[in-house]
Amino acid sequence: MKIHEYQAKEIFKRFSIPVPIGYVVDDLEKVKEVVVTLGVPVVVKAQIHAGGRGKGGGIKLAKIAAEAITAAKSLLGKKLVTPQTGPDGQPVNKLLIEKAVDIEKEYYLGILLDRSKSLPLVMASAAGGMDIEEVAAKDPSLIKHTHFDPFLGLWSYQSREIAKFLGIESKLLRKFEQLLRSLAKLYLELDASLVEINPLVLTKEGDFIALDAKINFDDNALFRHPEIIELRDYSQEDPLETEASRYNLNYIKLDGNIGCMVNGAGLAMATMDIIKLYGGEPANFLDVGGGATQDAVKNAFRILISDPSVKAVLINIFGGIARTDRIARGVVAAIEELGEVKIPVVVRLEGTNVEEGRRILREANFDFIVAENMSDAAEKVVKAVL
Ligand code: GDP
Ligand code: MN
Repeated sequence: MKIHEYQAKEIFKRFSIPVPIGYVVDDLEKVKEVVVTLGVPVVVKAQIHAGGRGKGGGIKLAKIAAEAITAAKSLLGKKLVTPQTGPDGQPVNKLLIEKAVDIEKEYYLGILLDRSKSLPLVMASAAGGMDIEEVAAKDPSLIKHTHFDPFLGLWSYQSREIAKFLGIESKLLRKFEQLLRSLAKLYLELDASLVEINPLVLTKEGDFIALDAKINFDDNALFRHPEIIELRDYSQEDPLETEASRYNLNYIKLDGNIGCMVNGAGLAMATMDIIKLYGGEPANFLDVGGGATQDAVKNAFRILISDPSVKAVLINIFGGIARTDRIARGVVAAIEELGEVKIPVVVRLEGTNVEEGRRILREANFDFIVAENMSDAAEKVVKAVL
């Protein structure tokens, strides 16, 4: 789960990680008030669940109050497109207005899960403020990678090595170590999957401040953090994905036109691969889960075809725990309930009770295109959208 910068900064404060003084606003009336309280210059920052806002015009430095108001007007209630959003952008419903900081130096500091080593990983670079993916691609030697044990935490010598790599002066070492330790503590305690400060700045006065803040959380651990679930902002999510999550379906919207309904994440990925192999483009990833109930299948199908870019559907089910007859009933029920389904639906069923499942499809009041196997299914569905 993602949260906004202003929310991440509230959490930073709780962990004693310094952030600029600022206030969040959601209407223009309050902008002036906040600017008066803070005093100019201020930075007006669009709050969306995506980075690259600087490049997309979502971060504006205002030297006088009137500039801050103009900036706020140009952002609030609009959609912001950045290199990290889709072409439609993300809605800006809130602005963070902060007292501008005098930057002496910018660093990158992040902690994320390295799945290949099953360990948390600190990434640090003196090339802060820039797109870290770009730094990694151009000159990977500018980034230091430090793994640490989640049970023991980050050792003090590790923080000192990172500080040395960043060229941090010895008189600032203690401050930096404290900050990094707090960041690691936050990462572990809140079950984050990513915490990122880009840029972490050093001010002329010799203080470290997190100018930007990003935290992603591990969805599987959210049940342990009800206060974090509260921070979810549905306006930043695809409405179909939000609805799917209500039924515990793993649904991710993609750009193609072939809707996919599959049970099991592995089979779902294989299905997307084979669609591509036959020259098609999947419109989504959808895993209805191992023990898919008739109801889950019905909701999944409804969500799938309510996406206007879906021109044909491929249902690919291997019935193990999920009995294929149950899946078939769910699909038929969904089609009956939806009334007019005008797009072709290709079905490949295999596994438990498959004869019964196929019979249900044959006898339904809808012309399913029945496929023999996966390749046949992919070929048929790609043909159907041509
Ligand atoms: P992002 O582009 O979405 O990552 O947004 P950031 O919060 O990182 O802001 C983008 C850039 O704006 C930063 O890298 C800074 O260079 C600049 N910026 C943000 N806040 C301030 C500030 O208070 N003072 C100055 N001088 N620059 C700032
Ligand atoms: Mn940033």
